[in-house]
Amino acid sequence: EGDSAAFDREVQSVCPFCGVGCQISLKVRGDRVVKVDGVNGPANEGRLCVKGRFGFDYIHHPHRLTRPLIRRDDAPAKGLNVDPGDWSGVFREATWEEALDRAADGLRGRGQQVAGFGSAKCSNEEAYLFQKFIRQGFGHNNVDHCTRLCHASSVAALIENVGSGAVTATFNEIENADVAIVIGANPVENHPVAATYFKQFAKRGGKLIVMDPRGQALKRHASHMLQFRPGADVALLNSIMHVIADEGLVDRQYIAAMTENWEAEREHLKGFAPEGLEGLTGIDADTIRDVARTFAGARSAMIFWGMGVSQHIHGTDNSRCLISLALMCGQVGRPGSGLHPLRGQNNVQGASDAGMIPMFLPDYAPVGSAEVRQRYADLWGEEPLAEKGLTVTEILDAVHAGDIRAMYILGENPAMSDPNLDHARAALAKLDHLVVQDIFLTETANYADVILPASAFAEKTGTVTNTNRQVQMGRPATPPPGEAREDWTITQELARRCGLDWAYTHPRDVFAEMKRVMPSLDNITWDRLEAEGAVTYPSLSPDDPGQAIVFADGFPRPEGRARFTPASIIPPDEVPDAEYPMVLTTGRQLEHWHTGSMTRRSKVLDAMEPEANCSLHPSTLRRLGVPAGGHVRLTTRRGTVTLMAREDRAIAPDMVFLPFAYVEAAANLLTNPALDPYGKIPEFKFSAVRVEAAEAA
Ligand code: SF4
Repeated sequence: EGDSAAFDREVQSVCPFCGVGCQISLKVRGDRVVKVDGVNGPANEGRLCVKGRFGFDYIHHPHRLTRPLIRRDDAPAKGLNVDPGDWSGVFREATWEEALDRAADGLRGRGQQVAGFGSAKCSNEEAYLFQKFIRQGFGHNNVDHCTRLCHASSVAALIENVGSGAVTATFNEIENADVAIVIGANPVENHPVAATYFKQFAKRGGKLIVMDPRGQALKRHASHMLQFRPGADVALLNSIMHVIADEGLVDRQYIAAMTENWEAEREHLKGFAPEGLEGLTGIDADTIRDVARTFAGARSAMIFWGMGVSQHIHGTDNSRCLISLALMCGQVGRPGSGLHPLRGQNNVQGASDAGMIPMFLPDYAPVGSAEVRQRYADLWGEEPLAEKGLTVTEILDAVHAGDIRAMYILGENPAMSDPNLDHARAALAKLDHLVVQDIFLTETANYADVILPASAFAEKTGTVTNTNRQVQMGRPATPPPGEAREDWTITQELARRCGLDWAYTHPRDVFAEMKRVMPSLDNITWDRLEAEGAVTYPSLSPDDPGQAIVFADGFPRPEGRARFTPASIIPPDEVPDAEYPMVLTTGRQLEHWHTGSMTRRSKVLDAMEPEANCSLHPSTLRRLGVPAGGHVRLTTRRGTVTLMAREDRAIAPDMVFLPFAYVEAAANLLTNPALDPYGKIPEFKFSAVRVEAAEAA
């Protein structure tokens, strides 16, 4: 970018990557963003990680889509066969009129045959319009997004047991805690700015208990590091709770006043003495007892968790255990206490709040409620269907079954993000009609009939909600390239062509409509967000910046009580055997974001991590006869990839860690699509795998 110090103007917005929601200042010269700095947002106080500071240049990448594209009549059969820099043999350019007409023609009037995948990269207003389009336009609830692949099980457990799917306290509250558990999360890589607060907490003497099957950088700051066996979460957490109950360390007063079903939980926990579970968890009983006493003895304690908890067929049970652990010690609703699932995408909280999920309308209003549906009948002119819609993976199954024949996909990349990619890609190829709206010709767009060029975060206005429930204003710094348009306008054009009478003139209009059905936005106005940049929900008055901690006086459940839901041990869906003897787990790296469509087009980030890689313990590499940096072949029951192997002492000798950002060695060709029965989340964190020495692919 040349001299990045020289710029004409600055625009304050929000980082487009993770759920921390750091506020940034975009420095603009002409039509180009040349530099990003952190500003004093409520979540980051000026801090940024490497993605936020250096990962913005993808917005000017030559692969950006600048005109609508339509699949050529003589295009080859649908497949992963399009060069994103030269698509001319497969697609042709079209005018917006032709592309929108073609896109709408393939959707209009098809009712239950249509499904929609939105994106947690959408703004709140875009997410609201997307779910409204599917529900109002096609009369059903088959709309979902990548929350299904990250924290759906956490949300299911939270709604069930505390009555709300959002965090009970901001991560910044850790400064008021004296004990914190971080489990199934690697914040130094995945929520780096949040991790700086965790490190500060440890430095001032807070006890940091890290639990994870992988070792990690946060270990250096931990008072306790429990590297437990993968899949043993319920056994581990129940054994900790067993000790707390058995030694009488529970908060009896809190349990009596604020909860229900404690007797059932207490009875259930009797069977989980840590001495009998050492073989399963890999953690000795003395350590479990020490952790239990440390947590139970805390004045204020918080629990943070990530995908390592949620992405299992027992992900909802894992979260139930964490909720029970906090409740039995009275650690919700006070300063320095609380439950905090670290949300992944920048707007996965907001997209879920806005109703882009198949079982809930905005603000988690259940589609099965007649009163809720009447509210929408009054607002939209027609009543939503009472039947829950299909989730992400169920929708692709329904495509294979021939029940869903057309899809509208906005900013989501299921050809990389779904488990069992061969199955997902075959489903996309099978559709009669696929409309993809995105900023790049993604792997999913390879299968499109119509591609609609959209806008990146720095090119549009809209609000986003971070992991802390902080609603923040995103502002445009540059115009979209070429003929690309703001996403909400594209969805509106499609909706009109599908017979809907929409006439929004600005995202502000959409936000105003959202406020009519979302009590969470009470006292939060567009004007406030423009002026203040961020307001936390719930906000109790027009000048309340919002509540960092909720549920001090009761829970949004019957009689205001939270619930204990006992959880039993369920083994992983696919246990290692002679043919597939190791455990595959997947996740992110610091430098790359999800399916790589943005960060692999960022010069700095791609230079730091240019090659697909996996991590293996040195002893495993020695056994295979593979040097560090050599190549290995990973094979599961679903597929094979070959890639470079790194030496990593933090990995157990019988495990392999595989980042999922690399299309040339796509992790999800291997992963198991078995679902958690409540959250419908796939078991990305545990597949049986065979690892062999290989030549470079
Ligand atoms: Fe962006 Fe997350 Fe990094 Fe903050 S921590 S700069 S939100 S990627």
